[in-house]
Amino acid sequence: RIAGPSGLVIFGVTGDLARKKLMPAIYDLANRGLLPPGFSLIGFARREWQDQDFAAEVHQAVRDHARTPFREEVWRQLSQGMRFVQGDFGDNAAFEQLKATVEDLDKAQGTGGNFAFYLSVPPKFFPEVVQQLKDHGLSDAPKGSWRRAVIEKPFGHDLESARDLNEIVHEVFAPDEVFRIDHYLGKETVQNILALRFANTLFEPIWNRSYVDHVQITMAEDIGIGGRAGYYDGIGAARDVIQNHLLQLLALTAMEEPASFDAASLVTEKLKVFKAVKVPADLAGYTVRAQYAADWQGGEKVLGYLQEEGIASDSRTDTYAAIKLEIDNRRWAGVPFYLRTGKRLGRRVTEIAIVFQRAPHSPFDSSATAELGENALVIRVQPDEGVTVRFGSKVPGTSMELRDVTMDFAYGESFTESSPEAYERLILDVLLGDANLFPRTEEVEESWRILDPIEEFWDRSGRPAQYPAGTWGPAEADGMLARDGRSWRRP
Ligand code: NAD
Repeated sequence: RIAGPSGLVIFGVTGDLARKKLMPAIYDLANRGLLPPGFSLIGFARREWQDQDFAAEVHQAVRDHARTPFREEVWRQLSQGMRFVQGDFGDNAAFEQLKATVEDLDKAQGTGGNFAFYLSVPPKFFPEVVQQLKDHGLSDAPKGSWRRAVIEKPFGHDLESARDLNEIVHEVFAPDEVFRIDHYLGKETVQNILALRFANTLFEPIWNRSYVDHVQITMAEDIGIGGRAGYYDGIGAARDVIQNHLLQLLALTAMEEPASFDAASLVTEKLKVFKAVKVPADLAGYTVRAQYAADWQGGEKVLGYLQEEGIASDSRTDTYAAIKLEIDNRRWAGVPFYLRTGKRLGRRVTEIAIVFQRAPHSPFDSSATAELGENALVIRVQPDEGVTVRFGSKVPGTSMELRDVTMDFAYGESFTESSPEAYERLILDVLLGDANLFPRTEEVEESWRILDPIEEFWDRSGRPAQYPAGTWGPAEADGMLARDGRSWRRP
């Protein structure tokens, strides 16, 4: 579907996200013919730029980061609708200027009054920018048109702050005008969880407590915090990744079939999962947080978290977090969901592993099955997108010996189309007004409800554990699964 007449305003357009993801995604959408003629892009930032300086920056960002090939005619058309507004978020004159620019573009480019405001700014500025949009009449859609707000993560840092932010935002924008970004939901492989589950008969009958032993959801990064100390310290891995991305993956993995594939039905089912999530009573036994310690990684000596520039030597921020959750409903009672995320782990990988129970009885000698693991279905979210099924098979030869083998689906091999970037899909959906892939108010609040007691427990506890950079996390995390007679996968 192609977006109708519209424009996008990006606040914080000189930032890292805008340059690496948003501007390239807009070009890629234009290149795929998915943006309307006359589509307009307004950049807002403090830099002293003219329109042409802004266009030159977008050009460079597109050259550096776009997914699709550069085409002069696409660029020429896109750049006609580019404008820059200079100012601080507290600057009333700049917002008046923005208003005038929006009105000019309506006339010059035929945007029809339809504008989305993308807040690609540090979270502490979300309330101020939203308030300014209201004060300058930018959030009020002229008759017959729409205005929408796109809000980056993190959405609050606990339940209370998320509620406060929701309140501020909803004073200005109606619920269906607010698009909260969780870019994981824009990923093909994440949307494919629903296709896999609800368009096939192969998996769903065994997708429950009768057959599933447990689920492991992993998002591992091999990099450290880079230059982002200011953002990361005090936030940590659980708030940065578990509250949003991993809990969304959990919801999609665990939810019931939605009545239809629309935003309201999806939210209804995801919310039921969140509400049924039980935080372990034994927080000491079933939550782990840790920090990476200096070590050799990939042939290079890397710093530990506490030695990184801008991090206090007594910081207790988690760079690794693992938690066990259970879902108290008929489908999942008694099936643990183990979630883990971390920086400076062995490899960059995100996956969901459904690990099945062992066969209830084996007619083979125990020596024949000694090397056999559990059956598993692994949804590989990134980077090697696909699905793997692991099961036991007879080793060729005269004796009965069984070993694990895998059956594999790889996107790259099965499809010639390459996957769009998450931000392409999400920006297009904002312009189309399609809210399927955006977490709603209640989802955000529910996920903080789950995380808050864990963070509070960690605040009361001692120092985080340590793990050597380049490994798969602290011994405590292994202990957490060992207590249940299980172990983490090595992705
Ligand atoms: P950034 O700090 O690089 O950029 C923020 C932008 O806001 C910059 O252009 C900065 O100049 C501008 N800004 C700050 N204060 C301002 C003020 N008072 N007036 C006007 N402009 C001001 O941040 P980023 O990395 O681009 O991230 C933007 C948002 O996206 C944040 O909410 C972040 O949490 C989120 N996010 C970023 C990434 C990423 O990969 N960088 C990933 C996921 C989410």
